[in-house]
Amino acid sequence: MSDCIFCKIIKGDIPSANVYRDEQVTAIRDINPAAPTHILILPNRHIDSVNALSNDDEQLIGHLFTTAKQLAAQAGVADGGYRLIMNTGADGGQTVFHIHLHFLGGAPMKHPMG
Ligand code: AMP
Ligand code: ZN
Repeated sequence: MSDCIFCKIIKGDIPSANVYRDEQVTAIRDINPAAPTHILILPNRHIDSVNALSNDDEQLIGHLFTTAKQLAAQAGVADGGYRLIMNTGADGGQTVFHIHLHFLGGAPMKHPMG
């Protein structure tokens, strides 16, 4: 998607602090962190939101979570715990319509859940 900010980041057209990349996903530091460790895990392929998922995307969405597990170990927060969030649509608080898994860790979470 040509006008999508995360597609531009994945292509390298907009700078970002990358923490991980493979064939399927890219993980970047959130520009406005809500926790000491706030990483966004993005599929490299554009998908608007959970509402746009198809059954063919199930492996990819699972890979977002196994990437989160790996990043937790790397960041040293696996035992302490962390929070994974995927906002969907306006009421869900989604502001960037390229699906992404928020990884929040490094402190006890106070971010409101609802
Ligand atoms: P959401 O509100 O769930 O759609 O999350 C979008 C997230 O993207 C927010 O936490 C923003 O701070 C973050 N964000 C927006 N633009 C950038 C950017 N250029 N680089 C890194 N994070 C960004
Ligand atoms: Zn995109």
